[in-house]
Amino acid sequence: MPLSALIKRTKTYLPGLNEKRLRKAYDFAAECHKGQTRMDGSPYITHPLAVCMNLAELQVDEDTLVACLLHDVPEDTCYTIQEVEKKFGKKVAFLVEGVTKLTKVKYRHDIAERQIESLKKFFLHSAKDLRIILIKLADRLHNMSTLQHVRQEKQLRIAKETMEIYAPIANLLGIWGIKSQLEDLSFQYIYPREYDLLTKEIKRTASHHQKILAETIQKLKRILKLKHIAAEVEGRPKSLYSIFTKMVRTGQRLQDLNDILGIRLVVKDRDTCYSVLGLVHSLFRPKSGRIKDYIAVPKANAYQSLHTTVFGLEGTPTEFQIRTHDMHIEAEYGIASYYFYKKSKSAPHELKTKASEWVQHILHLQKELKSNYDFLENLKVDVFQDRIFVFTPQGDVVDLPQGANGIDFAYHIHTDLGDHAVRMIRSGSNCPLTTPLKTGDTVEIVLSSTQKFPQREWIEKVKTNLARDKIKASLKKQSATVWRAAGLQFFRKELNRFMGRDLKTVTPAQKQRLLEHFKISNWKKFLEALGNGSIAEHDFIPILYTKNEILGIANSITSSYKTPLSKIKYHKNRSRLLDDLESKTSLPYYRIHLMMECEDRVGLLRDMGIHLANIEVNIYQIGVLPGKRPHEALIDIIIEVLDLEQLHNAFEAIESVDGILRVYRIPQKELKGTFRK
Ligand code: MN
Repeated sequence: MPLSALIKRTKTYLPGLNEKRLRKAYDFAAECHKGQTRMDGSPYITHPLAVCMNLAELQVDEDTLVACLLHDVPEDTCYTIQEVEKKFGKKVAFLVEGVTKLTKVKYRHDIAERQIESLKKFFLHSAKDLRIILIKLADRLHNMSTLQHVRQEKQLRIAKETMEIYAPIANLLGIWGIKSQLEDLSFQYIYPREYDLLTKEIKRTASHHQKILAETIQKLKRILKLKHIAAEVEGRPKSLYSIFTKMVRTGQRLQDLNDILGIRLVVKDRDTCYSVLGLVHSLFRPKSGRIKDYIAVPKANAYQSLHTTVFGLEGTPTEFQIRTHDMHIEAEYGIASYYFYKKSKSAPHELKTKASEWVQHILHLQKELKSNYDFLENLKVDVFQDRIFVFTPQGDVVDLPQGANGIDFAYHIHTDLGDHAVRMIRSGSNCPLTTPLKTGDTVEIVLSSTQKFPQREWIEKVKTNLARDKIKASLKKQSATVWRAAGLQFFRKELNRFMGRDLKTVTPAQKQRLLEHFKISNWKKFLEALGNGSIAEHDFIPILYTKNEILGIANSITSSYKTPLSKIKYHKNRSRLLDDLESKTSLPYYRIHLMMECEDRVGLLRDMGIHLANIEVNIYQIGVLPGKRPHEALIDIIIEVLDLEQLHNAFEAIESVDGILRVYRIPQKELKGTFRK
C-alpha cells in the first residue's frame, strides 16, 4: 500500500492536511529503517504505514500520523528521539517517546491476575496522551495481523498479551472496532482448534445467511424509502470471539445463538430511532425480552443504541441496532471520538493533550452507572494521580500509592521478603528501604540472613496498610524479649527525634504517667507494647511531656505576618483562628530547632522545602554544615509549627525526602540567642 493511499484517506476527514510534512516523515522513517525487513520479508516501512492506515480509520490528527510513521525509529534504529524532535518538533517527539516508553509494559506467560491489572494501569498511567495509546493499539493491531510470520511460542505470548492487556484497554476506551479485531486475531492463536471449528461452521452457513441478509436489507430499504426516512442500512459482521465467548458462557451451540445475523441502521436523530424501531417491529415479529433501549438507559461505557432481535426472513433470528450518526461515531471510535471527531468540528487546533481530561471523561461517564467491568471499578482517579509504578528485577510491574517506599514494595511482593529486608537497590544504586520510590524505578530488595523480623519503626514509615498490617503481624509473632528490645530502641529514637533528649532524662514520675495512661502494669510490659506496635509514637510523646515542654514557648503571629491565611487553611480550628485574626489578637506558633543528617545531593533542600510547604510549614532559618562522613551534610533548621500534629507531620514530611538519613531535635535550652544574625 503506497503513501498516496494514506494521504487520500486522511484528506477525506482532514482536508487541511500538510501533505509535505507527512511525506517528509515517511521519507525520514524509510531512511531510518533502511535495510530492515519485517518477518514476512517486506521492507520495514510498510509497518508504520499500515499502522497509520489503522489510525486514519479513527480520524486522528496530523501530529498523530506523523508520530505514527516514526513510532519505531528511536527503538529500532540508530536515530534518536532528539533527531525526531529536531526534524518534526516537540509535539511529535513527545508522542513518539510516549510510544517507545510503553514497550516497558511486558507480559509473561505465568503472569498473575493482579499483575495484569497492574500492567493495564501502568499502561494507562504511562501514556500521558490518548494519542499515544491509539498509536500503540493501532501498532498492535498491525502486528497481530502479521503474526503468522512470527515464531510459534512468541505468537502465543503476543496473542495472550493482546487479549489480556490491549483488547481490554481498547474496550475501556470504547474503541470497539479495534477491540473486536484484536480479540478475533488473538482468538485464532490462543484457541486455534475452536477458531477453526467455528470458522468452518460459520462458512458452511455463510452463503445462506448472506442471501437472507441481503434480502432483509433490500426489504428494509424499500419500506424506509416509502416512509421518507433517510437511513444507512448495513449488515453487521459478528465478531468471532464474541460468538465464541457467548457459546462458552451460555453453553449453546452455534445454531442456537439467536443473533448471528446483525443489521445496523444509522439515522439522523433520536426520534427517528424510535420510529424505525416501530417500523422493524411492524415488519418482523420481535422476540420477547430482546428489546433493549440503550438510548434512554445508556450502557456503563456510555454506549447508546436501540437493540431488538426479531424473527426475520425465513424465521432467522436477526438483531437490529438502531442509532443516530453521533451515537454511531461514539460507539465505533469511543473516547477517540471526543478527542478528534467532536472537537475537530469546533476547534481543530485545540486538541487537549492531558491524560487527565479523557480519564476524567471516562470517569464521568461511569459515575452514575453501575459498571460491568471490574477494571473500571478499580480505575479510580487515584490510579492516575496517586499511584507509582515500579519494576521487580524480573520486569514485573508493581503498583503502589504515591510515597510508598522499599518496605511497602517488599511486603507487596511477599511477607518473607519484607521481614528479611535490610536495604534496597533502586535503579542500580543502594538505598535505605525508607526511600520513597518513583515511577519507573527497578527495585531489588537485599535480604539479611540474620534479621528475622521487621523493624519496629517501619510501622510509622510505610504508606500501605498491607505493609503495616504485615509488619504488625510479624512483630506479634516475636517473643516478648524481642518486643522489649525493639520497644526500647524505638523509645530512645523517638525521644531523640521529638525532644532531643536521651533515656536517662526520663524520670520515674514520667514513666509512671505513661503506665497509668496506657493501663499497663510495669515498664517492661510498656516497652513490649511499644515494640510490637500496639502503641505509636504520637500516642506516648504527649503523655510524657506537656505541650509546652514539647513545643516550647509560643511566638505570636500578628496581622503583619506573611502567610497567615495559608496557615489558617491548614489548621483544624479555623474559625477560632479567623476570629483571632479579625480582632488582631495573636495566633500562637512554635519555633522548632531540628538537625538533619543527610546525603549531600543536588536538590535536597529544594525537595525538603516542597515537602514542608505542602503541609504549610514555614522555614524560619536554615543552614548547611559538613557532615560526619564524606558526601554527607548536616542541615540545621528552624521550622514554625502551629501544634503537635503539625510537628509530627513535619517529621514525616522531612523523613520522606530522598536522601534524609536521620532527623532529631536540638533541645530547647540551646536555642537561646544562637540564631538570626
Ligand atoms: Mn511498531
